[in-house]
Amino acid sequence: MKRIAVMTSGGDAPGMNAAVRAVVRKAIYHNCGVFGIYRGYTGLIEGDIKELQLGSVGDIIHRGGTMLHSSRSEEFKTVEGQLKAVEQLKKHGIEGVIVVGGDGSYRGAQKLSEHGIATVGVPGTIDNDIPGTDYTIGFDTALNTIIDSIDKIRDTASSHERTYVIEVMGRHAGDLALLSGLAGGAETILIPEVEHNMDDIIERLERGAKRGKKHSIIIVAEGIGSGVDIAKDIERRIDLETRVTVLGHIQRGGSPTGFDRVLASRLGAYAVDLLLADKSGVAVGIEKHKLVHYPFDEVFSKPHQIDQQIYDLSAQLSI
Ligand code: ADP
Repeated sequence: MKRIAVMTSGGDAPGMNAAVRAVVRKAIYHNCGVFGIYRGYTGLIEGDIKELQLGSVGDIIHRGGTMLHSSRSEEFKTVEGQLKAVEQLKKHGIEGVIVVGGDGSYRGAQKLSEHGIATVGVPGTIDNDIPGTDYTIGFDTALNTIIDSIDKIRDTASSHERTYVIEVMGRHAGDLALLSGLAGGAETILIPEVEHNMDDIIERLERGAKRGKKHSIIIVAEGIGSGVDIAKDIERRIDLETRVTVLGHIQRGGSPTGFDRVLASRLGAYAVDLLLADKSGVAVGIEKHKLVHYPFDEVFSKPHQIDQQIYDLSAQLSI
């Protein structure tokens, strides 16, 4: 393979830049031409493609977001859109594409491979919701951003003797809520994977108040509903002043942590190795610190699971 390309797609995640840098530098190290596809599948269809050099990815390893920009493209979900994309790749002589993104971006990559373009997926999403890897790029940074916010809110919660509900990202996956809740010492963690019961939450708050606990922190993953509604419900049932913080998009930004930079560098470089070894239609990941890859179909067929031991531990430590 003489020419490959790299793109970022779907929701951005800190560490995507480090992955792009690793792809570009590893490809050039192997004397392979490397192109950047800008603005995800939208840019691919429009031919927003430029050759990258070693210097093109200088000074980006520490930056959040993605220098290639990202997008969501409805047109790429159609066969016509996909064929336009394939045409653009052929025009540039590109034989393989590395797609850094989430589950939706992988589905797009699988379509490209069905049209004869070799593809490798690199997991880039803060949600940690992709099977076939213990961690996704951006998760650790987002986790630390949330923990930092919990620590700050805890200062106010303890000064004013309030209950705080903190809503964090995670529509289908509770990993961010679970791990930030454990690390931030939250009393209650509500995640989409486990059904919750408001009566239990109230009972827990009452028990805490009885033994002199002056404040509580409740972490809510957005997938279970609005933090505002949970807070209203608490105030309706029990005499505890309750406040809500919805962390929102600050969770997506910021300089990637050391963990995310190392992960992104390893996965980006590994994706190049696989493409150059004529692999296609696979996604890379790490399991138990080792690099692994699985066919997209296998990734799609596995359900996302939370770590039950961590869930149980967080419940035991917050009695
Ligand atoms: P993420 O990759 O973060 O999960 P999305 O789910 O929004 O983000 O997917 C990113 C893009 O991938 C979509 O806008 C679309 O262009 C492409 N995509 C998603 N699903 C498919 C699909 N089934 N077929 C083709 N392309 C898809």
